[in-house]
Amino acid sequence: MQTQEKFAQVSERLGQYREEMISLQRELVRRVAVGPDQGGPGEGEKAAFLLNLLTGWGLKVENYPAPDPRVAEGGRPNLVAWLPGQKPEKVWVLSHLDVVPPGDLKLWDSDPYTLRVEGDRLIGRGTEDNHHGILASIMAVKALLDLGLTPPRTIGLALVSDEETGSGKGLDFLLKTQPQLFSPEDLIIVPDAGSPDSTLVEVAEKSILWLRLTLLGKQCHASRPKLGKNTLRASAHVIVALEALHQEFSLENPLFDPPESTFEPTQKEANVSNINTIPGRAVFYLDCRVLPDYDLGLVKDRVEAIGKETAKKFGVSLKVEPVQELKSPPATDPQAPVVKALVKGIRRVYGREARPQGIGGGTVAAFFRQQGLPAVVWMTVTHTAHQPNEFTLLSNLVGDAQVLAHVFLAEE
Ligand SMILES: [Zn+2]
Repeated sequence: MQTQEKFAQVSERLGQYREEMISLQRELVRRVAVGPDQGGPGEGEKAAFLLNLLTGWGLKVENYPAPDPRVAEGGRPNLVAWLPGQKPEKVWVLSHLDVVPPGDLKLWDSDPYTLRVEGDRLIGRGTEDNHHGILASIMAVKALLDLGLTPPRTIGLALVSDEETGSGKGLDFLLKTQPQLFSPEDLIIVPDAGSPDSTLVEVAEKSILWLRLTLLGKQCHASRPKLGKNTLRASAHVIVALEALHQEFSLENPLFDPPESTFEPTQKEANVSNINTIPGRAVFYLDCRVLPDYDLGLVKDRVEAIGKETAKKFGVSLKVEPVQELKSPPATDPQAPVVKALVKGIRRVYGREARPQGIGGGTVAAFFRQQGLPAVVWMTVTHTAHQPNEFTLLSNLVGDAQVLAHVFLAEE
């Protein structure tokens, strides 16, 4: 049978899995997999469900758990399911088991852990991030199994823990303890980000720099401001002064969206609990996404210099500390075989031209790239990850599974 004929069969089969996709979403959504760093029970229950499911389909599934005393016995699961191909070269799809907490429940229209179906929308915590990736990949493999097709390359499905809180117990652990699993000749796809029109194939990331800025002044009664040093007012001026970073680091690179570095003040810690007290301490954070051209040390130095100069005008001291410093790894070559295979699949299924692009950073693919493994991040998103009423579209789930199946069946 010709590849195109096989693909047509698989594609049609995937269209018949809609009900099964919904019921599997429901099973995944109700197994709360918030990691212990965010006060949750971990990924154990969801992993056990998937291990059982995939084994039942006839796949060989391995588990490489990362020890973690905070979760129930067995550590943090990292599953690898195998479908042997005609050759040992592999194609990988890596998805993650963990979800972020629902946040303010009042912002949800229904229980975050009970799947709600509204037309094409599958709503619930984790439906997009990252059950979409899990389901698109496992259903693509199921279609091959049900049709008795052996793919050219061996397929590895990695279902890892701890993506939302640093990957130390997930992909980072897997790469450190089982480096033999992955090879630079493999095609590696991470369905964890993308665009709603399916055309964003992410190959590069900006460096990430998170800074904590602590201002110390003097607390006093609000009726006698001269007796104190108001750190909230000083913070406001520091934040405005830091706008200068955009001019100082103004390079643009069209591979990225947005093309320039970004410097955003984000979190602000609570200060005084009453209105009539001038706060003597203020803490806020700056989230910087910096083009790979720039040295993060230089950015930090400039934040410190600009901040201190401004704070001094208010008699306030300033301390700048890095919370996270992640130099971006080398980009995946936009001409890499995995990019080409994916672009072809997207063209075939969605009829659109996808393009390799860089994003603001923070995807788990960075761990692959640090090891010289050419990974791409792609899926069709609704951009509701981490939000209340998170959802994915069933039609995208079918489409993305078809794209992955197209890659699985590609001969080169
Ligand atoms: Zn994710």
